[in-house]
Amino acid sequence: MDRLLAPGVLEGLAERARPWAKQGKTAAYIPALSGADPEVFSAALFTVDGLSRTAGDRPAAFTLQSVSKVFMLAYVLEQKGEERLFSKVGMEPTGEPFHSLENLQFDAYAMPPNPLVNAGALAVTGLAEGKDLEEKWALFQAFVRRLAGKEIAFNREVAESEYEHAFLNRSFCYFLKQHGIIEGDVEELIALYSRQCALEMDCLLLARIGAVFAGSGRDPETGKGLISEKTARICRALMASCGMYNASGEFAVKAGVPAKSGVSGCIMAVIPGRLGIGVYSPGLDEKGNSLGGWKFLELLNQEYRIGIY
Ligand code: GLN
Repeated sequence: MDRLLAPGVLEGLAERARPWAKQGKTAAYIPALSGADPEVFSAALFTVDGLSRTAGDRPAAFTLQSVSKVFMLAYVLEQKGEERLFSKVGMEPTGEPFHSLENLQFDAYAMPPNPLVNAGALAVTGLAEGKDLEEKWALFQAFVRRLAGKEIAFNREVAESEYEHAFLNRSFCYFLKQHGIIEGDVEELIALYSRQCALEMDCLLLARIGAVFAGSGRDPETGKGLISEKTARICRALMASCGMYNASGEFAVKAGVPAKSGVSGCIMAVIPGRLGIGVYSPGLDEKGNSLGGWKFLELLNQEYRIGIY
C-alpha cells in the first residue's frame, strides 16, 4: 500500500498547510469567486489502483477554472491528435501571467506559447468537435463524465459571470482568429470555454481524475482505458512545465510534481505511476495559485519526497 495512505498522513499535512491558506486572496475578477470562504481547506488523494484518502474540511465543491484546460487538452488530443493540435499552439512555458497579452506572438505564426495559458487554451477549445455549442458541450461533458466516473455539472452562475466578463479572453480570440488559429465563432467559443471553467467538483473527484493522468490513462477503479498513454504523458509534461502559470519553475523546484492550478483555488497534481492529488483552498498568491494548496504540495515533497526530479 502507498505510504501516503497511512493513517494521519494527509490530515497532518493539511493542518500544517492550513495557516498559509488564510494569507491568500480570493480571485476578484468575478463575484462568484471573490465570495469564496478563504479559510476552507480540503485535500484528497487517489491511487492508480483505486485507493483514496481525504483530509481537511468537509468536501467543498469548487469550479475547475484553469484545471479544465488539461481536460480539454486531453480531449482534443484524443480527437485530433498531437500533430494537428500543436499546429495551433506551442509547447513552451512562458514567464508571463496566464492572461497576459504578451502571450500573443506577433510573428508570422501567431501561435500561443502553450495550451495552459488562456490564449493557448482558447485555441485548443476552438478545436473541439461538434456542430454547435450544445453538441460541443455535450460531447466534452461526456468525456469528463468518463474521467470522473460520474456525471459532472457546471455552475451556471459562474459560467454566466465568466462569459459576461471575458473581455480579455475575447481579445485573445479575435487576435487568434485574425491569424487563422481559431476558425469558428468567437462568442460560441467563449461560451464553451466559460462552461468548461465552471465545471464543478470536489477534491476527491479531482484526485480521481489526477490518477487517470498519473497512470497510463486508465480508470483507477475499473482499469478501463479512458485516454491513451501518450495523451496522459503529454498532459503530464505540459503540467510540469507550464501548469502553475509563471511560477511553474519555482513549483518544480519546491513540489517537484506535474500540477495544474485554477483561480478558484484548486490544484490537481500527479505523482506519475502512483496517484493523483486534489487540493482546494481559495486564497491565492499574487500569480493566481492557491497558497494553501501550494504549501500542502511543497510539504508533501519535503516530508515524503514525492518530487520526480
Ligand atoms: N476562467 C478563468 C479565465 O479564463 C480561468 C483562469 C484561471 O484559472 N487561471 O480567466
